[in-house]
Amino acid sequence: MTSETVMEKNAQGDPAPLNERSRVVIVGAGLAGVRVAFSLREAGFTGSILLLSDEEHLPYDRPPLSKAVLMKAGEESRIHLTRPEELAAAQIELRLGARCAALHPERRMIALQGGDSIGYDRLVLATGSSVRTLTDLPPGTDHVHYLRTLDDALRLRGAMENARKVAIIGAGVIGLEAAAVLADGTRSVLVIDPADRVMARAASPLLSNFLEDRHRAAGVDLRLGTHIATIDRTANGPTFTLSDGHRFQADLVLVGIGVVPNIALAEQAGLAIAPTGIMVDSAGRTSDPFIYAAGEIAWHFNDRLGRHDRQETWAHAAAHGEHVGRMLIDGHDPAYTEQSSYWTDQYDIAVQVFGTPIGERDVVRGNRAEGNFLIFHLTGDEVIGVTSVNAARALRQGKKLLGQRITDLAALADPGSDWAIVTTKAAA
Ligand code: FAD
Ligand code: NDP
Repeated sequence: MTSETVMEKNAQGDPAPLNERSRVVIVGAGLAGVRVAFSLREAGFTGSILLLSDEEHLPYDRPPLSKAVLMKAGEESRIHLTRPEELAAAQIELRLGARCAALHPERRMIALQGGDSIGYDRLVLATGSSVRTLTDLPPGTDHVHYLRTLDDALRLRGAMENARKVAIIGAGVIGLEAAAVLADGTRSVLVIDPADRVMARAASPLLSNFLEDRHRAAGVDLRLGTHIATIDRTANGPTFTLSDGHRFQADLVLVGIGVVPNIALAEQAGLAIAPTGIMVDSAGRTSDPFIYAAGEIAWHFNDRLGRHDRQETWAHAAAHGEHVGRMLIDGHDPAYTEQSSYWTDQYDIAVQVFGTPIGERDVVRGNRAEGNFLIFHLTGDEVIGVTSVNAARALRQGKKLLGQRITDLAALADPGSDWAIVTTKAAA
């Protein structure tokens, strides 16, 4: 089947504005893809919107997959991003199990796996990322799990029930959130990472140390600065020999060693790409003016930073999806200025991070011993980021210091001092 569409362009070959006869096709129905669709409609687009997902589930939210869904059966019914009636009301057509196999920008068509072709007036790539895999333990290996999709989470939850000896490869957010669920006293949990501290990419050393203490208190055997020397695969699960000589036989392995952006479609179609994603401008436009990219896949221009950036966070996928949806119909004011942020929940610890998580020095405000405090990350005297550990209320004030210069570090560190007295002016 081939769907025809209205292919309008102006005399220069640039895209003509969208109208009621236009069709926008969005590849990927994760958070970014869904937000593009609804934002486009909210911005007044009256043409057709087709949202394609290669998954079989209705669009769902990923953060609960490493938290509530692992902890409790049934939670998966509470993680939808949208419901069929909302899609119907917004006249957004969702096609599940529809994998885009190739782009044909010259004809403004895409090909689906299975043979269908679909025409578009604008195409949005919101294909997100896939897990980075270990060559020695690829997905599908007995006893071995990865965690990106709802199916992954359900499989892992099923396997957890009888698991007694868990090895987690990678002390990033996935590894640590899963460790916090798995280390419930019924099984041994070992975490391996070559880095010398946990979440080294996304956390300040102070936060890493705080989380390490909490994991060790829960009985997790954190093997940092350690790599896997050999893996012997047996019917009961792999036995790891680590670089520190330690041997560990696991009946369940979770690999959480990062993600890679799904850029293959764009690459094959000749769009400009970077190793970290599809190159887009502030408005989310790729090197082909009829094609946009949104969310985690986008090596996007952030006007606040004044450079391209990639964010693997919920807040960015949501904000960028909404922004790109608006830009499709109204290209005025294309600046994308989202402040980077993420959260992670581990045991009784709720972490929220705004801005840059690692600076030249950290200043703690609050009670570290009692486990509720802010960490300000400073470069020179400027606050470039703030981390909250169980301190959501203080964070509301603390966030206001982002970009400010601190004149009184002692006052900043003193929870009794007034917020107003610690700063002079915004950084240049
Ligand atoms: P994705 O969510 O990856 O969605 C892309 C979709 O496109 C997928 O459904 C994919 O199957 C589909 N797709 C890909 N290729 C094709 C194709 N060719 N044809 C059709 N469809 C295709 N962030 C936080 O800030 N805090 C958290 O606590 C947090 N927890 C997380 C927990 C887990 C387990 C995971 C995996 C992520 C977590 N994140 C968290 C990160 C956040 O969820 C992601 O950054 C966000 O989901 C990215 O959204 P996206 O829509 O850009 O990409
Ligand atoms: P991360 O990139 O956060 O962490 C991966 C960790 O694995 C890093 O410490 C990395 O070290 C380490 N690593 C890399 N290769 C190896 C190896 N061969 N052996 C052992 N360790 C290795 O990725 P995750 O897998 O934890 O998370 C995947 C995605 O899910 C990310 O996009 C993340 O943003 C998202 N997510 C976000 C959450 C949140 O924000 N709360 C929660 C869960 C997931 P190095 O950095 O040195 O390569």
